[in-house]
Amino acid sequence: MATDYDAPRKSEEDAESIEALKERVPAKGASAIDSEDADNPGFELAGADLSDLELDVVVLPQQADEFTCVNCFLVRHRSQMSRETELGPICAECDG
Ligand SMILES: [Zn+2]
Repeated sequence: MATDYDAPRKSEEDAESIEALKERVPAKGASAIDSEDADNPGFELAGADLSDLELDVVVLPQQADEFTCVNCFLVRHRSQMSRETELGPICAECDG
């Protein structure tokens, strides 16, 4: 009986971990519903944070003292420019 119990027990452990993963999804949904009940002010704060982040990311034109490296295409400060190539400026990191 001990042997018989051992084999199904292993698969139960597998099933448990899968169930645990599945349970996390509905758990998140449940907590989201809970927070909707309790946090009208919290929701407003979260919205403000998100819009700030979006502004920071979107509204950032390349500055006059910045350049876009033609090799890594990252916008870098002019102090990081190594030299101008035929294609454009290249940063010290790529030129090194
Ligand atoms: Zn570069």
